[in-house]
Amino acid sequence: MSFLSVDVDLAKKSYYAATVQRAQSFPKLEDGVSCDVAVVGGGLAGLSAAIELADRGYSVVVLEAKEVGWGASGRNGGQALAGLACDQATIEAQLGMGEARRIWSMTLEAIALIQERCNRFEIACDWQGGYLSLAVNARKAEALRQWQDHMQSAYAFKTQWIDRADMAQWIDSPRFHSGVFDATSGHLNPLKYSLGLARAAASLGVKIYEHSTVTALTQGDTVRLKTEFGEVRASDVLLAGNVYLQNLAPVLQTRIMPVGTYIVTSEVLDPAMAQSLIPSKAAVCDTNFVLDYFRPTPDHRVLYGGRVSYSTNTPHDLEASMQKRMATTFPQLKNTRVEYAWGGFVDISMNRAPDFGRLKPVASSGSAKGPANVYYLQGFSGHGLALTGLAGKLVAEAIDGNAKRFDTFSRLKHRSFPGGKFLRTPALVAGMAYYRLRDML
Ligand SMILES: Cc1cc2nc3c(=O)[nH]c(=O)nc-3n(C[C@H](O)[C@H](O)[C@H](O)COP(=O)(O)OP(=O)(O)OC[C@H]3O[C@@H](n4cnc5c(N)ncnc54)[C@H](O)[C@@H]3O)c2cc1C
Repeated sequence: MSFLSVDVDLAKKSYYAATVQRAQSFPKLEDGVSCDVAVVGGGLAGLSAAIELADRGYSVVVLEAKEVGWGASGRNGGQALAGLACDQATIEAQLGMGEARRIWSMTLEAIALIQERCNRFEIACDWQGGYLSLAVNARKAEALRQWQDHMQSAYAFKTQWIDRADMAQWIDSPRFHSGVFDATSGHLNPLKYSLGLARAAASLGVKIYEHSTVTALTQGDTVRLKTEFGEVRASDVLLAGNVYLQNLAPVLQTRIMPVGTYIVTSEVLDPAMAQSLIPSKAAVCDTNFVLDYFRPTPDHRVLYGGRVSYSTNTPHDLEASMQKRMATTFPQLKNTRVEYAWGGFVDISMNRAPDFGRLKPVASSGSAKGPANVYYLQGFSGHGLALTGLAGKLVAEAIDGNAKRFDTFSRLKHRSFPGGKFLRTPALVAGMAYYRLRDML
């Protein structure tokens, strides 16, 4: 079974989809339409770009294959975190300290942008500040301490160290050795946020089309996007289709891999018991390579994410194994029922750094040189809730004539996954077994 069919199944059992009303739907494209900028993908990256472009006076069309927020954007763990999926060291090594600092500060801007948009467009999405990054043993605590020191000295990013002796004040769990509290990051309901951005984009005049899969892209001075019943002609295009983009731009596909990741929510807990688990109500992540991440919800559940599938097959014992993980962290939830279990696919890049850029230009007939007018955003590597917002803003800046910040990211080098179309999944499975082993040490 292709991962796309697996994904359709995984989306069905989402807590967000079951509890958030879609108040607005958008038509299917059934015509020929012209605009300044066409965006493929109605997730957070595409919607963010659409808002920023509309603000700058561009006419914008968003084409979404399913419904806005249907992909990772409406299904994720809700953790809006500073930084990137990769370590800052990866960025420092490639671009040097100055650019690495600029990128770090843009990741903080990404979080501020969420707050700004929630205020401006009155998006009620249950924002809760605070993030705990927790180490499960002394070796990992040492690495976390080094990270904290480096972030403080090189980036002036302040976090609070939590010693083993103080851990009980932060989390009612025997699993953690020590940790760091980051007051800048936080968590929210991602489907409410995605739908809020779609409403905001529409209110600014962006034309959104749902159930309108783009099946062909023709580059040139005017870019043409074909859907089943319509066509869009645009001066610039943004591809923000995540792992779902598939054959629309095959070159992009070689640089990301779809990796399955899973979330459950508990049944509703007694409010006092829910409050006692994480008194600060912060989002939590351990620092393992295959990490567990969790957070309280406003309706007194624990939302618990973890496990990954590099083979793209859904673990057969998903609910039971996730319940077990949750109970390992919180033994008091041993008999707590899991009410929703779902998942999705993240777009990991080889080095886990985001992969932003422009497709190689193709000249229209009659012109000698084509324009670099097809932008793409991918490789968020499971860390895109906040960063997608900023990424959309950077594309809008670039289309509007200031590509400086976009190109800070686009200079990052990326490699294709080895193994070609058919062998790269098995190669990835084998490679990742090594990291699982390291987590156990
Ligand atoms: C289970 C899970 C948990 C996660 N948890 C977190 C977390 O806690 N914190 C965090 O920071 N990140 C998390 N992430 C990652 C984060 O959700 C993503 O990085 C982010 O949502 C990506 O947004 P996007 O707009 O690029 O992609 P998506 O939201 O996937 O949107 C892409 C859209 O493009 C559409 N599309 C694709 N191709 C076409 C086409 N040809 N024509 C028309 N439309 C098309 C798709 O239908 C889709 O709706 C998680 C991801 C998953 C799957």
